[in-house]
Amino acid sequence: MRLRLGLDIGGTKMEAAILATHSGRDEVLARERVPTQREEGFASVYKRMVQLISTVLNQNGTSISDLDGIGIGLPGAINPQTQQMLNGNTAIFVGQDLPALLSHDLEFSGSIAVANDANCFALAEALLGVGLRHAQELGTTPEHLTSIGVILGTGVGGGLIYKGRALEGPHGGAGEIGHTQLDPGGPKCFCGRQGCAETFLSGKGMETWYADRFGEKLFAMQIFDRAEMLEKKALEAVQIYRRYLDQFTLNLINFFDPDFLVFGGGVSLQPAIYQGLEERVWKQTFIPDTRPRIYQNTLGDSAGVIGAALLIP
Ligand SMILES: [Zn+2]
Repeated sequence: MRLRLGLDIGGTKMEAAILATHSGRDEVLARERVPTQREEGFASVYKRMVQLISTVLNQNGTSISDLDGIGIGLPGAINPQTQQMLNGNTAIFVGQDLPALLSHDLEFSGSIAVANDANCFALAEALLGVGLRHAQELGTTPEHLTSIGVILGTGVGGGLIYKGRALEGPHGGAGEIGHTQLDPGGPKCFCGRQGCAETFLSGKGMETWYADRFGEKLFAMQIFDRAEMLEKKALEAVQIYRRYLDQFTLNLINFFDPDFLVFGGGVSLQPAIYQGLEERVWKQTFIPDTRPRIYQNTLGDSAGVIGAALLIP
């Protein structure tokens, strides 16, 4: 039996889990979640991170030396050479050498891998989430498939999965799809450009353009709720959202030729965004008869911690 520990570090919560693999079957054995409390600073957060690892090991009666490896998902791009976080909204982790710190403090000599959280999401869904079902339908295994995990949340991010592995890119920037441009004249993005996918398709982006266009401040969820009640402005907003999502999805398909795409993040919970999406997109792909499926995720918020464990091959 192989035991991998996954650690999903977010801006608001941290989660650890032990993933056991036995005769090709994966099972989560222990799992714990605590608030990150990033305002307390790195030293304090790191201390609780170490405690969290001890807690799940104790829950399962596992000693650290039984682990095949530790995988860590962080909320930012990761430099593949140094394994350190380069940027992101939780600045306390930028430039911290977590593998070195943890292997020293836990006296752990196994491998420790770090990736950004969107890659972890994409990897978990590809290997143990929707990818599993998709592979079964095709009579193959998930390790043979190519897919894109797309986060439509507070921001827009993604992970590119090629034959069962997440691509990181030489600079750690592979899959930063939220900052591909949909409209050069679009809203200003925090990255310095205009009209990035994130400015149209993230929950926050939608809230901003909705307020600009319709003069009312609503949460993205409220806009979708009102559209369901057939409220005119909200219906128009959902139409606009769909048009941008069509273009974005088509760009991704033409760029990467995936077997399937899987959506995660808060906006991915809205059934309205899937209505007619596949049909419209399939008609416009550059390679005729390319029909990648577009799924809602199946692992929910467990994907991060499972994907982190899967970073250990
Ligand atoms: Zn941008």
